[in-house]
Amino acid sequence: MEKRKHTRSLGKSEIGKSTVFVKCPFCGVETECYTWSLYGSGKRCRQCGAVHHGIGYTEMKERLNTVSPMIAIRPKVPLI
Ligand SMILES: [Zn+2]
Repeated sequence: MEKRKHTRSLGKSEIGKSTVFVKCPFCGVETECYTWSLYGSGKRCRQCGAVHHGIGYTEMKERLNTVSPMIAIRPKVPLI
């Protein structure tokens, strides 16, 4: 488990629906997050699955870029 600070840019600003764009410190992809969601349970990065938190850091619980058994056992499809 690893924690890194993330950077943000402002998203929409509506009452009760404010969003921020959080740049993932692990994969670099920006995810639009509701601020209430960030300060609640956190918001998962849409690319790598790390969780962004409201207090300014992102937590990687498990790496999703490892080859999963489901993919490993898939038979090869011949190229046409
Ligand atoms: Zn990410």
